[in-house]
Amino acid sequence: MTDLAIGVSGPSGPLSGANGPAALIPEPSGAEGPGGAGAQAADPEIVTAKILVVDDDPRNLLAVAEILRAPNLEIVTADSGEAALRRVLTDEFAVILLDVQMPRIDGYELAAMIRGRSHSSRVPIIFLTAYNKDDLHVFRGYTAGAVDYVFKPIEPLVLKSKVDVFVDLYRKTEEIRRQGEAERRLLLENLHVRGEKLKAEQALRLAHERQEAILSSLPVVVTSRGVEAPFPALFVSDNVERLTGFPAERFTGDPDFGVSRIHPEDVEGVTRELGAAITNGSYGCEYRWLCADGQYRYFLDQGVLSPEVEGRAREIFGTMFDITERRMLEQQLVHASKLEAVGRLTGGVAHDFNNMLSVVIGNLDLLRNTLDGDDKASRRVRLAIEGAQRCADLTNRLLAFSRRQPVQASIVRLQDLMPGFLELMRRTLGERIDVRLTMDEDVRPIEVDCAQFEAALLNLAVNARDAMPNGGTLTIAVGNRTIEEPHAAGSEPSGGPTGDCVLVSVTDTGVGMPLSVRERVFEPFFTTKESGKGTGLGLSMVYGFVQQSRGFVEIDSAPGEGTSIRIVFPAAECPSDDGLGRNEPEAAMPVLGQGETILVVEDDPEVRQVAVATLETLGFSVREAETGDEAAAMLERGDRVRLLLSDVRMPGVLNGLDLARRVRREWPSIDVVLTSGYADVEDALDEFHFLHKPYRASDLAEKLRILLKA
Ligand code: ADP
Ligand code: MG
Repeated sequence: MTDLAIGVSGPSGPLSGANGPAALIPEPSGAEGPGGAGAQAADPEIVTAKILVVDDDPRNLLAVAEILRAPNLEIVTADSGEAALRRVLTDEFAVILLDVQMPRIDGYELAAMIRGRSHSSRVPIIFLTAYNKDDLHVFRGYTAGAVDYVFKPIEPLVLKSKVDVFVDLYRKTEEIRRQGEAERRLLLENLHVRGEKLKAEQALRLAHERQEAILSSLPVVVTSRGVEAPFPALFVSDNVERLTGFPAERFTGDPDFGVSRIHPEDVEGVTRELGAAITNGSYGCEYRWLCADGQYRYFLDQGVLSPEVEGRAREIFGTMFDITERRMLEQQLVHASKLEAVGRLTGGVAHDFNNMLSVVIGNLDLLRNTLDGDDKASRRVRLAIEGAQRCADLTNRLLAFSRRQPVQASIVRLQDLMPGFLELMRRTLGERIDVRLTMDEDVRPIEVDCAQFEAALLNLAVNARDAMPNGGTLTIAVGNRTIEEPHAAGSEPSGGPTGDCVLVSVTDTGVGMPLSVRERVFEPFFTTKESGKGTGLGLSMVYGFVQQSRGFVEIDSAPGEGTSIRIVFPAAECPSDDGLGRNEPEAAMPVLGQGETILVVEDDPEVRQVAVATLETLGFSVREAETGDEAAAMLERGDRVRLLLSDVRMPGVLNGLDLARRVRREWPSIDVVLTSGYADVEDALDEFHFLHKPYRASDLAEKLRILLKA
């Protein structure tokens, strides 16, 4: 409000002469209200202006004050130049009214002094004078710094309107100054606020960037979903694309998308679990989810219900974690443990079976020797032996799977072995199968039981042939490999072999296998072939053999896409030329003994009996013992014995191996042959001659021939 609110009003009349008393003090007008200046209501919107009136005559002071009185106007009076100067120092005035004639310091001097002070140099000064208008004084007054003159006797209207001009000017200037100040303050405040805002924005951006960095680098997707099926995605962190191949917008843009790609077998469980989140407050589930590359991956999905907030719908906050790798390893482990358990079971059965077969074969061998001349009976016995022998083969394969079969590992160079073996394979598989071999030049030697290695490859080849009824190609590839990570289902407690290895793969172009078959092929007796065609033991044997050789085996197969079976063996430590090639050929005919005494130690009476009878037929004199302890007692008594034939597993303090070691220590002239249907005899294999049960009479004779000749 810059308009002046001082109304010039009231009756006007001439004031008395210069220094005389005021002739007339006008009454305040009705509009201004009764009472003095201080009593009038001040408007807080209007700048209060101060006016200094200087006159040595108090009556004049009173008169002028009366004339000027108005709201928001403060009249300050001074009755001398000194008093005026003191006020000028402390107060700020809109205008100063000076009486010219005053004792000591007159108006001109005072004006000059007021002008001389920086504080008051610009305050307008009006002289009140009784001098003539044309007088020289007027000029003097202007030179001293006056801006106007009011002549006495004072015309109230003239005085008031002159003063009003300066009060108005003062107010306007003051208002502009205050406005400027307010604006500057506002500007400063604005700057401050903007600074704060900038800082807050920066902090927010930083927090956001950090959050983004965390979200995108963790293998965890953060989600927010609706609480009702199909649990539409409201938010999905961007890293979902890295895990699934789909951008986050695919999830948030289509409410059904997330659930639609869950594996059909898992959908129900997931829907149930998520649906219960609203009542349980949390959820957790694992499921398979079809990713953009067409592969299912396993996800662990866990989360909580959002906290209750007024006016906001509840949501489910969750995290998704890719656990595919872990699940795969778990599955492999479960599979391996299952096979291990089955292996132990079959191993036990096969072992008992072998003992019984020893009895059958042994007795048949004995019977055959008594049938001189009876061709018909001889032929029957021969067929019976062949049948029993086939049974023994089967049991051996079971033992191979359960890793209870003794292995006679030697260093094998596949460069030497494979070409000859390929011939055998071509003959076995027939013309419709094209057999190919690719082999690295410098394949490292491996340490395996050669006969079992061949049997394993033959098993794989026969399976391949069965899978290619209309012919096809069988490729065997042999090469060096370096294995970095131990295989989960490997034979060692720490996993499969690592480092230098040899890979033998057998690949066919046959019908392939669905997953349900692939998962079970290593189980003994698992076969998809019609009865009589398959035993279900081929791959079991391969599995057992590979495990026992400290390697691992893997299958790649899909229906219609053929099958590739890869076996990895650890490379042998020290390549050597010894022990290469096959086992010695069987002796054609048993060689008779010359009455030497052989001590047979065997806890199974039937097995023992066969052994005794066989040895007697071969021309030896035989002593029997049921346990190692009994045999030791006989030797201690001084019974003369040329050779000890002992089972390994027996009841009593001394097992076969203990007995054999004691014999070697105390009676070194006695030769030792150990026999077992089990494979837990590796030490025995290294130390003593060994016969694997069930053995043929010819095998026993051959062993004895070699020993006794030496
Ligand atoms: P068997 O050959 O007596 O059936 P195996 O243990 O050798 O027993 O094989 C088990 C099963 O694995 C077979 O019945 C067959 O279903 C499947 N199988 C093995 N090898 C192959 C192959 N190369 N191609 C397709 N299926 C195979
Ligand atoms: Mg087979």
